[in-house]
Amino acid sequence: MTTATSLVPTQHGASICRGCWDQMRVPIPIRGALALPFRAFGITRSKMNPNICTICERSFRYVKKQRHITTRATILFADMRGFTQLSGRIGALELSDIVSLFQDRCAQAVWAHDGIVNKQMGDGLMAIFNFPIAIKDHARAAVSAAMDMQRAHATALDGAKLGEDGVTDRTLGVGIGIHSGDVEVGEFSSFRSDFTAIGGTVNLAARLESQAAAGEILVSAETADQMPEILGDAEARLLSLKGIEHTVRANVLRVN
Ligand SMILES: [Zn+2]
Repeated sequence: MTTATSLVPTQHGASICRGCWDQMRVPIPIRGALALPFRAFGITRSKMNPNICTICERSFRYVKKQRHITTRATILFADMRGFTQLSGRIGALELSDIVSLFQDRCAQAVWAHDGIVNKQMGDGLMAIFNFPIAIKDHARAAVSAAMDMQRAHATALDGAKLGEDGVTDRTLGVGIGIHSGDVEVGEFSSFRSDFTAIGGTVNLAARLESQAAAGEILVSAETADQMPEILGDAEARLLSLKGIEHTVRANVLRVN
């Protein structure tokens, strides 16, 4: 067992899949010479996170011995703001560059905090923290990733002169929603084998994101309660959200 223990990944760029290790305690090589025979069988690094492999991405039932499980996680949704207006102003080629830069920057921020980019939907994405890579403080990891995203996009937008008068459009930016709670993780489609998360926690995170203006991170009370120090003088906002009966309290975070 000492061999396996010495392979336990503790940092980024780990040589074995962190998902398979955290979920099954099975060391699957994803980098270096040991990974080559696996690659011959189509087992490579996942596009959801380069530190997990295609086994934990596509073989949920094999990994968890069930079709789906209930687990605690933090869900993050991010979406470009001002994208519709922008599409009317610039060419398709430029637009696709902007979207892929947005997706790349978001993915880097998610991966830096051990989350996975579970879905990419055009100018938006959904990230999961705490599955399949186990993260003790997943709420904090998600909020840190969101702050990194906003910083990266703010820097990029500062350099962009998109308005006719050369002034950056203030409506252009990224809106983010974050919520923590129980989610159902597993395979829910008969024609896709990659796993995803569903349930009320996921829906609320998506609704929060839809209410976030450019530059804002809307953090639910459940997520914020796990890191009271980040609240500081953060604005609290009461929201009536579509499909949710009670009023939801969210904390609004901005990076500057
Ligand atoms: Zn794996």
